[in-house]
Amino acid sequence: MIYFDNASTTKPCEKSVRYSNIYLTDKFFNASSIYKQGIENKNQLTVCKKLIAKTLGVEFKDNVIFTGSATEANNLAINGTLRKNFKKLIFSEGEHPSVYNTALDLKNKGYNVEFIKLNSNGSVDIEDFNQKLTPDTSFISIMHINNETGAINDLDKLLDIKNKICPNAIFHSDGVQAFGKIKYTLNPNIDLYSISAHKIHGPKGVGALYVKNKSKLSPIIFGGGQEYNLRSGTENVAGIMGFMGAIEEIDYNTQIADIKKYIIANLDKNFKVNGENTSPYILSLSYKGLNGETLVHMLEAEDILISRGSACSGSKVGNRILTAMGLEKEYVTSSIRLSFSRYNTLEEAKIVTQKLNDFAKQLVSLQ
Ligand code: PLP
Repeated sequence: MIYFDNASTTKPCEKSVRYSNIYLTDKFFNASSIYKQGIENKNQLTVCKKLIAKTLGVEFKDNVIFTGSATEANNLAINGTLRKNFKKLIFSEGEHPSVYNTALDLKNKGYNVEFIKLNSNGSVDIEDFNQKLTPDTSFISIMHINNETGAINDLDKLLDIKNKICPNAIFHSDGVQAFGKIKYTLNPNIDLYSISAHKIHGPKGVGALYVKNKSKLSPIIFGGGQEYNLRSGTENVAGIMGFMGAIEEIDYNTQIADIKKYIIANLDKNFKVNGENTSPYILSLSYKGLNGETLVHMLEAEDILISRGSACSGSKVGNRILTAMGLEKEYVTSSIRLSFSRYNTLEEAKIVTQKLNDFAKQLVSLQ
């Protein structure tokens, strides 16, 4: 099998599985228990939090909250900082559904919610950002790297603008497709940053939210008061330890960029690359006139797994983001996404490129 769908999920690494196993079997204890075994597990959670803070380039000050997914971390970031007196909330049109649909929900509830346009390269339109930001803006959420196109938002630049116009606004970024993939030191003006274990060879169902100032955050889940009373629920120690194993194995020096470069250089020229200056981990392609879903299934028959856009958005995949980038309908319906991990090889890239070229030719000849 060739697995080129790593933006959807990744294969857990050996260390992640090993760490999880230990805490699923011998060290199964509740991290909130007051006896030695419980305390030891709680301490291990803190070790993982410190590692997350270090990886983000921030000092650890009890500023990492574990959640059951990045979807939950995004919901917590938005609904947990939401206040009745919020005047304006800003999101981008490129956000993952866990942010975008939360924004729509707030709009339906009567909040003043505005969406920033995307450039044709897939990143946030800085002009539009500049225009829509006003001194009464209370909250901003702009993702770091888009999961469908790999478009990278220049958070530092966006924060410079924000600091001039609305310095007190809360700034959140969904860092799921960036954390552990591109080296980035968190800008000190970022208030909240969401990450997910299963995108970096850790287990599914484990996320975390970095929060600069916990006093600005309220819980959205109530219960036993775990995670500084901000995310109740018995801690998923095994999952979090699996996350730690994955973080310990982060490798920024992989050959992933070569894989993407090879594919782009050797594809039939009728394939269009969607987005520019995108993450080396994600490649969005279109071929006008073809059907993306057909291509996905033709590759599947050869044991090659790729996707349309985001796995979370079902059959409507790719529509919202690519349309927001200004792509014509025919490019949107023909879109496919290839996404890579350190387990992929150039050999695999060669096979997939050849297959894509062959299948596109076959489909064109049938038209
Ligand atoms: N944000 C982005 C950019 C994603 O790619 C994903 C996963 O697809 C999520 C959030 C949601 O992460 P999780 O699967 O941990 O809920």
